[in-house]
Amino acid sequence: MEEMDLSRIERAVREILLSIGEDPGREGLFETPERVAEAYTHLFSGLREDPARNLEVSFPAEGHDTVLLRDVPLASMCEHHLLPFVGKAHVGYVPEGRVVGLSEIVHLVEGFARRPQLQERLTAQIADALHESLGSRGSFVVIEAEQLCMTMRGAQKPGTITVTSAFRGVFDEEPGRRSEVMALISRSEKRG
Ligand SMILES: [Zn+2]
Repeated sequence: MEEMDLSRIERAVREILLSIGEDPGREGLFETPERVAEAYTHLFSGLREDPARNLEVSFPAEGHDTVLLRDVPLASMCEHHLLPFVGKAHVGYVPEGRVVGLSEIVHLVEGFARRPQLQERLTAQIADALHESLGSRGSFVVIEAEQLCMTMRGAQKPGTITVTSAFRGVFDEEPGRRSEVMALISRSEKRG
């Protein structure tokens, strides 16, 4: 994929500032286009990688117990407004002979989050990668996030949380597994 075109971002940001009636030459804004371009290289770095590659190094494991990562911090950008949505992801799977390092799952989440995204798609992509790329008996992802494009524009009150979930494999097929997952996750909320 092409490298990110920083000077093009800078020109575009300058255009936005002019369009809203600001003076891009004033002190506080003078370096803003450059700062935004620099920030975008981090916020959208996931476009230049295949996040599922984080699952390539796996280890043999016996047993079919659920592995759960709770409260993985999450920050992404809504592709409809280019405003952040921020929250946490709960990610788990039941191994089918292979497990991955827990930090690799965090990298998986980050890779998909660092793109223009929708919370629903982000949730599904992480679950699909764990189920298909790693090859699990089942996987699940629950994301709780505040959509700033909703709360800042007044469509929702600040603090309103959107919850999305995706269940694959045994979590999709066996209803008992789903309630097991929701119980594990809600236990974290009561703990605060
Ligand atoms: Zn939005």
